[in-house]
Amino acid sequence: MKFYSTQNPSKLVSMEEALLRSMPADRGLYMPATIPTPGAAFFDKISDGSLADIAYEISKLLFSSEISADKLKALVDHAFPFDTPVVALDRGKTHVLELFHGPSQAFKDVGARYMAAMMGYFLEQSNREVHILVATSGDTGGAVAMGFLGVPGIKVTILYPSGRVSDLQEKQLTTLGQNITALEVDGSFDDCQAMVKAAFADEELNQAYNLASANSINIFRLIPQGFYYVRAYGQVKKCGKPVVFSTPSGNFGNLSAGVLAQRMGLPVNHFVAATNKNRVVPTYLQSGNYEPHASIETISNAMDVGNPSNFVRLTHLFGDNYDSLKEKVSGYWFDDEQTKAAMQEVYQQYGYIMCPHTAIGYLGWQSYQQANSDKCGILLSTAHPAKFKDLVDDILETNVEIPAALASLMNREKHSIQIPAHFDALKEYLMPATV
Ligand SMILES: *Cc1c(COP(=O)(O)O)cnc(C)c1O
Repeated sequence: MKFYSTQNPSKLVSMEEALLRSMPADRGLYMPATIPTPGAAFFDKISDGSLADIAYEISKLLFSSEISADKLKALVDHAFPFDTPVVALDRGKTHVLELFHGPSQAFKDVGARYMAAMMGYFLEQSNREVHILVATSGDTGGAVAMGFLGVPGIKVTILYPSGRVSDLQEKQLTTLGQNITALEVDGSFDDCQAMVKAAFADEELNQAYNLASANSINIFRLIPQGFYYVRAYGQVKKCGKPVVFSTPSGNFGNLSAGVLAQRMGLPVNHFVAATNKNRVVPTYLQSGNYEPHASIETISNAMDVGNPSNFVRLTHLFGDNYDSLKEKVSGYWFDDEQTKAAMQEVYQQYGYIMCPHTAIGYLGWQSYQQANSDKCGILLSTAHPAKFKDLVDDILETNVEIPAALASLMNREKHSIQIPAHFDALKEYLMPATV
C-alpha cells in the first residue's frame, strides 16, 4: 500500500516512509492511496474473530506486498494479546465498546502497539535507529511507553507537564526504564507540545537523529483503530438494525479511524462526534464555520483539544465536502455538569462505571437516538475509570477498583528528569554540550 500527503495527492510514498516519517515535509497528513473494498461479506465473516484475528485479516489485505503473512500474524499477535469486548447496557439498544483492556488501560494502546510492532519490523530490516519524541497530557504517554518498551532500534522520550497528570498516568510514564525516558517539564501540556514541535523543526537535531512522532498524526496509529470498529460490528450485528458509533473525541483520530473502516465497506450507518466544551467540530457540523481556539480545561481532559490535528483528515475523507460529512456524522457537545450527571445516571440505572470521556460518548448516543430510535448504538469507552480514580470516586461516591496491572505499577519507583519548559533544555538533553 502506498500513501500520499493531503497537501499533494499526486506524490506517493512507501508504507515504510509514511510510518517512519509520521508527517510529510509539506506539513500535510498521510492518507492511504487506495482503500481496498473487500465487500460486506468479508466483514460479516471476519468480524466474528478476536481483535488479533481481525487485525491479521485486514493487515494482509493492506500490507501483503510489504510484509509476509507469517510475519504479519506474529506482529499482530504480539500487538494484541487483549480483546475489545462489547457490553450491552439496555435491551440491545445501547452498547459500550470497552477499549481499555490493554496494558495502559486506554484505547491508545491499540494504535501505539500496532505502530510499535510495524516500526520494530522495518528498523530490524534496515538496522536503523529511531528516536521517538512525544508530548503527553496523560494517556498517550502511557500507551506509547508500554507499546514501545524494549522494541529494538527505538528510543522513546516522553515530555509531560509536572503535577498535571494523574498518579497512575505518571507511574506508567516513569517506572518502565529500558528504552523509555520521561522528561518532567516544569510547565503545561502546551509547553511540552511546543518543545516537541521545535525539536522536529531543528535542523541540527534532525541531522543527528531520526526523530519520529508517535501521536495520532501518524496514519499507523489510525489504521489499527479501525479493527475494533469491525470487532464491535460483529458483536452487535445480530440486532438487525442500522449500526451507529458514538466516539468521544479530542484530536479526532479515533473517529477518523471509524470512517476509514467504513470506507473499506464496514456497514456503519452513522457516526456521532461527541465532545466536551472544546466543541469546534460539533459547531462546524452545525454552522459550516471552523473556528479553532485555545483548549478549554474540562474533567474529560484527554479531549481538551481546541484545534484537532485530525480534522483535516476527517474532512478529506469526505472529499472536503461539508454536506457529505454532515450526512454521515452528527456532532454534539456537553459540559462538565452534564458529564457528571451522565456518569451518575449510568451508575444508578445499570451499575456500570464510566470514565468522564466515555460518559460523553454515552451522552452523544442519547442525543442522537432521540430522533433516530430504530438504530443500534455503540459508544466507545476510551479509558478505564480507575485511570481517573479520584475524580470518579468523588462523582459517584464509590471506590473504583484498580485493575491488578495498574495497582502493581503504584509500588514502582518513579524515574524522571526534570527540565524547565524551554526548547534549549530539551535540546541539551538530546544532544549534550551543543547548546
Ligand atoms: C486520547 C483520548 C480521547 C480522544 O481521542 P482522539 O482520537 O484524540 O479523538 C478520548 N478519550 C480518552 C480517554 C483519550 O485518552
